[in-house]
Amino acid sequence: MNNRRKFIVQLGLGSAAAVLASRAMADAAPLTEADPQASAMGFKLDGTKVDKTKFPKYAAGQQCSGCALYQGKAGDKSGPCSVFAGKIVPATGWCNVWAKKA
Ligand code: SF4
Repeated sequence: MNNRRKFIVQLGLGSAAAVLASRAMADAAPLTEADPQASAMGFKLDGTKVDKTKFPKYAAGQQCSGCALYQGKAGDKSGPCSVFAGKIVPATGWCNVWAKKA
């Protein structure tokens, strides 16, 4: 395969992957605090509202956007989380699984 054709094929595959990724994100539902798994993990849409007596691990400044498990891009208002498959979490959220992004 010549380089030009190879480039066009790769471009097509890349575009298809981007479309699938954006479609998966569009299909994902926002995670709610009422979700039983989220509730058990102390999930809050606004990390500053965490019940610190129940979840003393929380420290000011921790939020989903700074979590290693957050899959949104920098600057996104929300994104997928690898703990809550198929759900979207806000960049400002928090749960007890929070781990500092490297
Ligand atoms: Fe947010 Fe991280 Fe908890 Fe996912 S695991 S909800 S990104 S704090």
